[in-house]
Amino acid sequence: MNSAQEPSFRESVDLMFNRAVALMDLPPGLEEKIRVCNATYTVRFGVRLRGKIHTFTGYRSVHSEHMEPVKGGIRYAMGVNQDEVEALAALMTYKCALVEAPFGGSKGGLRIDPREWEEDELERITRRFAYELIKRDLVNPSQNVPAPDMGTGEREMAWIADQYKRMNTTDINGRACVTGKPINGGGIQGRTEATGRGVQYALQELFRHPEDVKAAKLSGTLDGKRVVVQGLGNVGYHAAKFLQEEDGCKITGIIERDGAITSDAGLDVESVRNWIMKHGGVKGFPDATYVENGGLVLEQDCDILIPAALEGVINLSNAANVKAPLIIEAANGPVTAGADEILRKKGCVIVPDMYANAGGVTVSYFEWVKNLSHIRFGRLGRRQEEARHQLIVDELNALDTELGDSWSMTPDFKQKYLRGAGELELVRSGLDDTMRAAYQSMRELWHGRDDVEDLRTAAYLVSIGKVADSYRALGL
Ligand code: GLU
Repeated sequence: MNSAQEPSFRESVDLMFNRAVALMDLPPGLEEKIRVCNATYTVRFGVRLRGKIHTFTGYRSVHSEHMEPVKGGIRYAMGVNQDEVEALAALMTYKCALVEAPFGGSKGGLRIDPREWEEDELERITRRFAYELIKRDLVNPSQNVPAPDMGTGEREMAWIADQYKRMNTTDINGRACVTGKPINGGGIQGRTEATGRGVQYALQELFRHPEDVKAAKLSGTLDGKRVVVQGLGNVGYHAAKFLQEEDGCKITGIIERDGAITSDAGLDVESVRNWIMKHGGVKGFPDATYVENGGLVLEQDCDILIPAALEGVINLSNAANVKAPLIIEAANGPVTAGADEILRKKGCVIVPDMYANAGGVTVSYFEWVKNLSHIRFGRLGRRQEEARHQLIVDELNALDTELGDSWSMTPDFKQKYLRGAGELELVRSGLDDTMRAAYQSMRELWHGRDDVEDLRTAAYLVSIGKVADSYRALGL
């Protein structure tokens, strides 16, 4: 955090929670029960590497068990600490409730810089960390289901799943102990792109409502909108790529670890990504302006700002200078509570993290269900669906012949209509539906209640309401 007056990440989340709760009428004491983190487990373990024992510190925090399993990623980063995992676990509770993924909230982290270690070393560290968590049921298909987060991906999830399997050889549902696995290891199509895809669907939904676009002092469609993205990791890369390739957005700024690049004409996301892979950063990318102090580009004039990296990047020190009228929080907690207030007063519309980046856990939910049902989505119905479509196409074919030149099918109609949905199409459809429905639930409060000024408060109201309902259903 950049300023002494700035609260910690967890306090920041709690402040936002409190703002919303003040507008609710919860039974006495329930508010505190929901807000606090139930438990945080800290583990310190040693792994013999490079001729000596290295001690690592890891965490798994469980925020709320109103629904089980609890869910949330495992992060590998040097900055990992208890306050951070607790804030992130709390956000998971609210996120899952908002998008109706039937989980409580959890989060894990390991204090490590993954780039410092070779693959086989990372595997040994991950398996050892997983062992510590598995033996305490902190990784378990029915109790606690981790997923990727910053610094982890399919590879780490595959190691965790395998470790679970070794320790629970007869658990037929073992694969559901973790999500974000590779496809051939029990994963699901579309999980890797899911969080970025969700950011795109969230923006598409906002732009379906001219009133909301106007609230963000913008007009028209996503086409041609100038976008600045911070972090071209898994989330930022997919969000920027889809917005550029499918919605016509212009990526005018990309902020990375080593600085930022800008271009009024727009940056090609794919080329920038390849450049980063090859050169380790954005510096030197052709036909763009390099800005060494990348953070300054957060303050650049643009239509949409997508912080997709770390928490706390928009804070008391820079919030007043941020010019974007619309911010979508692809990262968790990128805007601190203090910055949120400054931006709100300026009339900036913020699409909050718990909604904006919920695509990941939504598709994790689909993966978990797939693992428990032991069958790929679409396997039973696809050909049947195609056969029924064929009937219509046959009828249209006959009509086409009969009507001669006066009518004919559009050339690619047949091909498009005939193709039954495979797993990827079904996952995307489920994700799109989820993002639309959750947006509607926030929107109703945002526009429907005078005391709800912003989407974040609306998001908290919806999710806290849902968590409170579950507690009531439990008789508490
Ligand atoms: N780490 C992601 C998040 O923060 C995904 C969590 C999950 O899929 O369980 O939402």
